[in-house]
Amino acid sequence: MDAVARLGCIVCRNLGFLDSPAELHHPRFLAGGAQRSSHMDVIPLCPTHHRLGGLGVALHAGRQSFEAAYGSEAELLAQVRALLA
Ligand SMILES: [Zn+2]
Ligand SMILES: [Zn+2]
Repeated sequence: MDAVARLGCIVCRNLGFLDSPAELHHPRFLAGGAQRSSHMDVIPLCPTHHRLGGLGVALHAGRQSFEAAYGSEAELLAQVRALLA
C-alpha cells in the first residue's frame, strides 16, 4: 500500500503534476464482486480529487462526472498496476 501512496495522485500525475500527496481510494466496482480484494486494489488520489474537489473533480462528489473527466476507476487502477509493475 505504501508503494501505491508513493506514486502520488494518479489524476494529478495524468495532468502533469507528479508526487501529489495521495489518499488511498478503494474502487467501488470491486466491492461485492467475485474478485478477491487485495491491498493493491487501491487508487491513489489527492484529497481534492478524492473527496474535496466538488462535482466533476472529486471522485466521491460524483463518480460519473469524475470518470468522464479523468477516466474510469478500472482504467485508473490498471494504470496504477502498470506503474507498480
Ligand atoms: Zn489529484
Ligand atoms: Zn474513496
